Amino acid sequence: MTDLPDLLARTTEHALAYLEGASDRPVSRPVPAGELVAALGGPVPDQPRDPAEVVDELAGAVDPGLVVTNAGRYFGFVEGGVVPASLAADWLTSIWDQNPAFSALSPAATAAEEVCRGWLCELLGLPGTASAGFTSGAQLANVTGLAAGRHHVLRAAGWDVEADGLFGAPAVTVFAGEERHATVDRALRFLGFGTRSITPIPVDGQGRMRPDALEHELERAHGRGPAIVCAQAGNVNTGAADPLRRIGELTREHDTWLHVDGAFGLWAAAAPEFAHLTDGAELADSWAVDGHKWLNVPYDCGIVLCAHPDSHRAAMSLSAAYLARGGGRDGSDWTPESSRRARVFAVWAALRALGRTGVAELVRTCCAHARRCAELLAGDENVTVLNDVVLNQVLVRIGDDDARTRAVAEAVQAEGVTWLGTTTWRGGTAIRISVSDHATTHEHIDELVRAVLRAARG
Ligand SMILES: *Cc1c(COP(=O)(O)O)cnc(C)c1O
Repeated sequence: MTDLPDLLARTTEHALAYLEGASDRPVSRPVPAGELVAALGGPVPDQPRDPAEVVDELAGAVDPGLVVTNAGRYFGFVEGGVVPASLAADWLTSIWDQNPAFSALSPAATAAEEVCRGWLCELLGLPGTASAGFTSGAQLANVTGLAAGRHHVLRAAGWDVEADGLFGAPAVTVFAGEERHATVDRALRFLGFGTRSITPIPVDGQGRMRPDALEHELERAHGRGPAIVCAQAGNVNTGAADPLRRIGELTREHDTWLHVDGAFGLWAAAAPEFAHLTDGAELADSWAVDGHKWLNVPYDCGIVLCAHPDSHRAAMSLSAAYLARGGGRDGSDWTPESSRRARVFAVWAALRALGRTGVAELVRTCCAHARRCAELLAGDENVTVLNDVVLNQVLVRIGDDDARTRAVAEAVQAEGVTWLGTTTWRGGTAIRISVSDHATTHEHIDELVRAVLRAARG
């Protein structure tokens, strides 16, 4: 049997081989259906195997199916890279095997969560007393923020949703922009509201909720029971943020809960030149943000923040009996999970390594790359840039043609130099380019532009 030092050294070799080779290999390659399953599969292994051989076999079997999302050349969806300090901290997180569910289980993870809570509030311009939960992503951060809102607005209406559930409860109306993220709908499904409880609010040409329309709907709903408004910072297509100050003023006036889905867009607040985009975010009651997107922390990591710690805790706490424990922070009071990974160490390391100026620089650089990419592409007669490039997202269309746009994306994907996906924007197909990786350089953007133009002309 390989001893532990040799096993870890061997694992480091695999890690370095992957990282060092990442710039030369195709970003993704087509793998015949079943090939990966065959390489990993077979009957249930009967006998124990040496751990070093297991690691060799795993690294070999998955290799053709790995998508290189963290080497600067990946622009699909909104996928962050990984800053080195965060990667190293993530390795240690597995070595330490801490469980932040209860402070007694890991005073270390508990302390890191408390410190990062404060740092995040400050960097994102949110109230310093907001509570925080470290979730698997923005999906569960949205669930948690909206669950806190559900508790809060129903309690104000005299209903104890944690004890009595939703059967017979006063109806809660949810207002959300027409261009909200799909995870908001799923969060509302999980929470028993159902997607039909959503009153969609019309948006402008960049996907921003129209505050006049929200005002109209809030006035119409006045006196008709509890309500929650779900706004967005960072539309997944355009990068645009809803006008949060005006929306915050309206929700305060109408005594409704305001949740902000700011998965990547809330990070604009951390860069002075972009902070105007999320101006007013501090007026909200809860916020969802990702660590694994723009902060460049490895998967999985999201954060929910809440201006009403009592409501946050009441909605999430494992049981009333646990509440009586008193004492320090228990991670399970702030997320839907009980036991979980101490993902906060990677957040701490990213924030410690980058610092305030480094986080601002990360945002600024990605946005500058996105702008340059849009300018270069817009110079070609085949390409139309569809959005105002205010953040890190660029939407383009080729020859004003759905099929051609899709074909160009597919050709670029097949070439393997870079990767970008397609989306639907205002009824048509668009190529979406997201610059969210600290490792992306000028040259990567040039490569991306060349790849798109090659495919568009070909
Ligand atoms: C990515 C994203 C989500 C979902 O985040 P996960 O981390 O994948 O759970 C929610 N909202 C917006 C606006 C997003 O961009």
